[in-house]
Amino acid sequence: MVEALTPVYSCLRGTNHSSPHCQALVGEVGKAVKCSMYEQRPSPCREVLAGDDKCQKARARHGLPALPTKTVTDSDKLAA
Ligand code: SF4
Repeated sequence: MVEALTPVYSCLRGTNHSSPHCQALVGEVGKAVKCSMYEQRPSPCREVLAGDDKCQKARARHGLPALPTKTVTDSDKLAA
């Protein structure tokens, strides 16, 4: 699932593209998807919350409508 970028840095396979699609994502975008390694997902994934800016940008890239906007609190981040 991991692709080496440098001797120090790596990324999830499929995410280092202009049109990223993580190989851990199973299902069909826009219908039903899930992360196949959710409990082990890395910290950048844990920082994205449903309805935050990164979520909305990802949805827009796939032509999906925006979710209701949400103000992300510190407790939301701790719960993720
Ligand atoms: S949460 Fe992270 S690891 Fe899981 S599918 Fe999304 S990008 Fe991949």
